[in-house]
Amino acid sequence: MSAAAGAIDNQREGSFAALGNVFLTRLPAAPLPAPYVVGFAPDVASMLGFDASLASAPGFSEFFSGNTTRDWPSTALPYASVYSGHQFGVWAGQLGDGRALTLGEAEHNGRRFELQLKGGGRTPYSRMGDGRAVLRSSIREYLCSEAMHHLGIPTTRALCVIGSDQPVRREEIETAAVVTRVSPSFVRFGHFEHFYANDRVDALRSLADHVIDRFYPACRDADDPYLALLNEAVLSTADLIVQWQAVGFCHGVMNTDNMSILGLTIDYGPFGFMDGFDANHICNHSDSQGRYAYRMQPQIAYWNLFCLAQGLLPLFGERYGEAERSERAVQDAQRVLEGFKARFAPALEARMRAKLGLDTEREGDDQLANKLFEIMHANRADFTLTFRNLSKLSRHDANGDAPARDLFLDRAAFDAWATEYRARLSHETRDDAERAEAMNRVNPKYVLRNHLAENAIRRAKEKDFSEVERLAAVLRHPFDEQPEHEAYAGLPPDWASSLEVSCSS
Ligand code: AMP
Ligand code: MG
Repeated sequence: MSAAAGAIDNQREGSFAALGNVFLTRLPAAPLPAPYVVGFAPDVASMLGFDASLASAPGFSEFFSGNTTRDWPSTALPYASVYSGHQFGVWAGQLGDGRALTLGEAEHNGRRFELQLKGGGRTPYSRMGDGRAVLRSSIREYLCSEAMHHLGIPTTRALCVIGSDQPVRREEIETAAVVTRVSPSFVRFGHFEHFYANDRVDALRSLADHVIDRFYPACRDADDPYLALLNEAVLSTADLIVQWQAVGFCHGVMNTDNMSILGLTIDYGPFGFMDGFDANHICNHSDSQGRYAYRMQPQIAYWNLFCLAQGLLPLFGERYGEAERSERAVQDAQRVLEGFKARFAPALEARMRAKLGLDTEREGDDQLANKLFEIMHANRADFTLTFRNLSKLSRHDANGDAPARDLFLDRAAFDAWATEYRARLSHETRDDAERAEAMNRVNPKYVLRNHLAENAIRRAKEKDFSEVERLAAVLRHPFDEQPEHEAYAGLPPDWASSLEVSCSS
């Protein structure tokens, strides 16, 4: 355990912590009684250069519950950072890490990662919150961030979940847990908005310089490095949303404080992978207007980038004379923001071609994909299984149609689409087997369906954590067949339709 503790540094040059007190407050975590290990990801440990047997080392749960931080020297304490943001389309003012504490950075193989405890107790940014996270939501974050990573979708990672019997009040009484999240950076759009709103252009510049120096050094060579930074955020965010849409993932709370400057999926709350496809699906029970519905995610991402651009505005256009600077800075920002559409649409189309197993590009591919979504929506066909099972369809006859076809109540609608699909496949050179193999590398068999997470949570509440680990292991190989785990790929049971997830985590 001391190996991990010794490898974490939170004062090093070039780190977020080195930006100083305007950005953060140092404080120890609030003690958590009798902590125990609920989940542990050995591959994240290896990524950090920690031993894969770390979780059984003495003191592991004391350390990753934050309990040992009360003994740390005051200048090296963990820290909570300050940010602001737009929540549900409205300026919310100051927010900040209300229950997250960054322990510091670990460096391995030339890569630096920040380790952050989520649920470590109250901070100066907690407002009305208790600073805690419950076991249920911590398991969901742990499972989903690991599932996303293994799907190839950019995300923060999770090293472990530590539980405690300490009661936490939500809609009902639950128990506390702490997830150790891992990311190269936890900087959010809201960090930039914060310093813009407070008219701290100096701090805004330091923050932007930090992100450029650490993550986008090539921006320094651009005419306007800060505009180049915005461009990087635009591109990485567009790419991220393409990936979300392509697997039927709904984030649920795409507030600007939950958007990573690196284009990572961050802040897992009421997220969900869709079972039956509904373009209007709202995974967050508290989102009554459907602002963050599945089909809204691309335009919300664009809206959020607009807020980021606004926050960076004072830094743009330094190369212009004072007289024309502000006007040209706005024009530049608008031009860069337009890049979202130019990036998103073709990338989504390319992704859809890959999902349909189309190796070549032809006129009408887009309509073919959209028609499939239309009939999936009308039939509430299972998102994951529809794409996965399409790989079994033959380009010559209807013999292999059943696995996909059976997911549609309106069989005639599927048959009509399948006829078009087969006609399109006749222009491809790959045979069925090659196409199936390629499709199975982009269409996962296993995703974190709500009911799977719920099963693991129910068992964990009874102190049986084996299902958390079993499920995590299945989700580490989402594209493999794993015949022994067929049940994890099946349609949700009836009880799953009544599951609701809200912001309360
Ligand atoms: P979220 O929408 O969950 O990302 O959270 C929005 C803001 O509320 C962030 O500033 C969080 O740190 C804060 N927050 C959420 N839950 C809690 C809690 N239980 N205690 C303190 N702050 C919280
Ligand atoms: Mg958040």
